[in-house]
Amino acid sequence: TKYILVSGGVVSGIGKGVIASSTGLLLKTTGLKVTSIKIDPYMNIDAGLMRPTEHGEVYVLNDGGEVDLDLGNYERYLDVTLSKDNNITTGKIYTQVIERERKGEYLGKTVQIVPHLVNAIQDWIERVSKIPVDNTGEEPDVCIVELGGTVGDIESAPFIEAMRQFQFRVGHENFALIHVSLVPDMHGEQKTKPTQTTVHALRGLGLLPDLIACRLLVPQPLSSATKDKISMFCHVSSEQVFGVHDVSSVYHVPLLLQSQGIVPYLRKRLNLDSLNIPKEMI
Ligand code: ADP
Repeated sequence: TKYILVSGGVVSGIGKGVIASSTGLLLKTTGLKVTSIKIDPYMNIDAGLMRPTEHGEVYVLNDGGEVDLDLGNYERYLDVTLSKDNNITTGKIYTQVIERERKGEYLGKTVQIVPHLVNAIQDWIERVSKIPVDNTGEEPDVCIVELGGTVGDIESAPFIEAMRQFQFRVGHENFALIHVSLVPDMHGEQKTKPTQTTVHALRGLGLLPDLIACRLLVPQPLSSATKDKISMFCHVSSEQVFGVHDVSSVYHVPLLLQSQGIVPYLRKRLNLDSLNIPKEMI
């Protein structure tokens, strides 16, 4: 299985979910089977008891799981059926570790965030990424893992550490990272400093972005000068910097990513040709 982690910086609600679903959709069009996991670093077990006016619509899965609407985006974009295990929350993962501890499964050891909780997160992702989600009943080729919240939050720290270790567990050519950042447009001037800061924080935590998706909350696309500046200051090539401006429908986002070459990039980076896909599809 190939894993694509989608993380976010600067502020939440910038379209991380839409970028993650769009990436999955594009890979699906090449003939790959795609699944997804959404990580919500809150203490709630699920979204069932969260106030919709504050959190947004609660999405109900086929197995009754009450989850974040992002799972609904995945089901619609990817035409898959997900289960409640495709949503990991801090509440669920702590419950699992604490229940194991009560059963004595840690054999008298001191149970800690590292390694026990962080291992539980990695095991969960590995297990759920292999569950078939479409009517072929086959194991997915690619798993999109979306990490909710923003990098640097106290809440997301165990998940970031789990993903840092996970890149070694699965190997470099099986793990890519898309970091979604905000590029504020101040009276026509596109500002790169928040992106520099968040990429710096990400690197400090041991995760290096393969793609930086720059979200602009205006209809103007990312300028090539801004792209070059982000490339230079964030230590990536300019082909690794993507612009995602405001579009009239979120269903245009896949086209926006495609036009900037996301598929060839991921194909090379994750060696997608090694998967058993008819060559003409990729
Ligand atoms: P996050 O996962 O970062 O919280 P979402 O993907 O849920 O963000 O998107 C937040 C909101 O922004 C949604 O209402 C979505 O429809 C809207 N949105 C996302 N990307 C775009 C875009 N490129 N243009 C216009 N609206 C967008």
